[in-house]
Amino acid sequence: MRFSVVTIFPDMIESFKKFGVVAQAIANGIIEVNAYNLRDFTTDKHRVVDDYPFGGGPGMVMKAEPFFRFYDFYLEKFGKPHVVLTTPQGRIFDNEKAMELAQKEDLVILCGRYEGIDERVMEIVDEEISIGDYVLTGGELAAMVIIDATSRFVPGVVDEESVKKESFMNDLLDHPVYTRPRSIQKKEVPEILLSGDHEKIEIWRRKEAMKKTILKRPDLFLKKESFDRIDKLSIIELVRELIKDAQ
Ligand code: SAM
Repeated sequence: MRFSVVTIFPDMIESFKKFGVVAQAIANGIIEVNAYNLRDFTTDKHRVVDDYPFGGGPGMVMKAEPFFRFYDFYLEKFGKPHVVLTTPQGRIFDNEKAMELAQKEDLVILCGRYEGIDERVMEIVDEEISIGDYVLTGGELAAMVIIDATSRFVPGVVDEESVKKESFMNDLLDHPVYTRPRSIQKKEVPEILLSGDHEKIEIWRRKEAMKKTILKRPDLFLKKESFDRIDKLSIIELVRELIKDAQ
């Protein structure tokens, strides 16, 4: 999958590309992340990308023409991409949107700065995405969030089994995890995890995931519509545990 970010700060994206799972996926040729400097698509000597807003008011507005020139260049080079505009006015980004975007082969992400981008750029935009109800100083952090979360759903980027168990999959948060040592200041790892009984461990983990979800994100739990065998066994365990604790 190809991600292309249009920004006046390409170094932010270049730095992001150097770390962790994203860097590994790029090295393995599974994803491509390209940063395009919007200033390369200006035609004036000073490579100006912003101008005063018509009608007055504070701040500057990003000019439309450099985005249009980028788009024409891109169409000619790669064909039609799916274009996302980062904006606090867009649909809030979530796991479902990340899974949906991971189906695209070619994703272009436009990053605004200043007061935003000339509205006429909407002509080349397929969808507007926000990463939360707050205002950032630029779209680059949003672009990185979108690339990071989306690339995890591109086959081969992370282990598929671990993706399936992660928070928000099946409308549950992830279960608690532990690593060595077994005991830290008398705080022990739950005995069941050392039992080697895979089904019991799975039921225990699902039960703990349900507890966490019900306590921390009841809204997520209310969305859960399907309950598989492990879900049901873990609910039985949970009820047993509650009755035992109450006695
Ligand atoms: N004047 C705009 C408004 O109030 O809707 C905000 C512009 S903001 C200062 C500059 C740029 O940051 C935006 O064009 C967008 O690219 C990015 N941005 C800001 N907040 C964002 C958010 N919550 N999600 C995604 N992008 C955001």
